[in-house]
Amino acid sequence: MHHDTTTLAHYVPDLAKDKFHVWITKYHYLPIVALGLLLFALGGLPFLLWGIFLRTVVGLHATWLVNSATHIWGARPFSTRDDSTNNWFVALLTFGEGWHNNHHAHPTSARHGLKWYEIDMNWYGIWALKVVGLATQITGLRAAGLDRKEIAAGGLVTPDSLRHLRTATGD
Ligand SMILES: [Zn+2]
Repeated sequence: MHHDTTTLAHYVPDLAKDKFHVWITKYHYLPIVALGLLLFALGGLPFLLWGIFLRTVVGLHATWLVNSATHIWGARPFSTRDDSTNNWFVALLTFGEGWHNNHHAHPTSARHGLKWYEIDMNWYGIWALKVVGLATQITGLRAAGLDRKEIAAGGLVTPDSLRHLRTATGD
């Protein structure tokens, strides 16, 4: 969580040059401390417990479910060389990260929910930012190696149509 920018520059060179992101990496605790003080001032201990501590614990456990539960339970539409799965419950808790087999099959895609019923709130948010011009250079399915016709086919991407793209990742 508290990485030095030299390490981060290797993985996210664009963010490592951005002054705000460098600042927030160094002082990541300041916004939550400020919010905690504000909540405590507004509603005392109950506001602090619900607004900071419970929310953080739920968020952490939901995040960790992605690399635990979605490597145990769920569907595997793509034959990746790992044990990743798509788990709808984890996907709902994590706004789409639970479509983890899709992610392992197409690790560079910003979109994890491939079928219309694979609800992916993160992708909808990215798409909305793209529509209003606030997000550019999004690595989508096409850039991840998927053909637009395959994506557009009824809004669905079928595992059969993607057989040639099956890959394995290690995260
Ligand atoms: Zn994984």
